[in-house]
Amino acid sequence: MRVFLNPGHAPDGNPDPGACGYGLRECDVAKNVADLVAGYLAAAGVEVVGCLQSDSLHEVVSASNNSDADVFISIHCNACNGAANGTEVWHFYGSGAGETLASCIQNQIVTSLGTTDRGTKGAKPGVNGLYVLSNTDAVAVLVELAFIDHEGDAELLGTQQDEFARAIARGVTDYEGEC
Ligand SMILES: [Zn+2]
Repeated sequence: MRVFLNPGHAPDGNPDPGACGYGLRECDVAKNVADLVAGYLAAAGVEVVGCLQSDSLHEVVSASNNSDADVFISIHCNACNGAANGTEVWHFYGSGAGETLASCIQNQIVTSLGTTDRGTKGAKPGVNGLYVLSNTDAVAVLVELAFIDHEGDAELLGTQQDEFARAIARGVTDYEGEC
């Protein structure tokens, strides 16, 4: 299985760091976690065919499609003015494989990190379609690790990046076992 990783937002936050909170920037958390995921997947014998962080979602989608990836994983942090917490994983609405992959990753993260389970969610094109889910050929998911502007979640995002990465990698291998 060929996996393409996409840490969300722009490299080093230029021009877009994503959400921020408690001294953390989404772009940095996502990049660190993605790099760790790449290492754990490689160690598990899963081929990582790309890891690209770019402000251009068109560039991200093209790179994934050109790499002939089977699985596409975008990594983000959520934010809601401190009013919400927890983990959610998005997939393309109506994609059974996407829902399975999303569930595998969601279950691993909430089990190992103890974050609130906000469930998996299907993104509908034109309604709440997320560009990278709608335009990638691979089975695609977008992982919202936790809320960067929530004190408890931010603590996890700051100190447990390795655990988040291990959980995502286990989710991918769980998915590989199911399909
Ligand atoms: Zn984001």
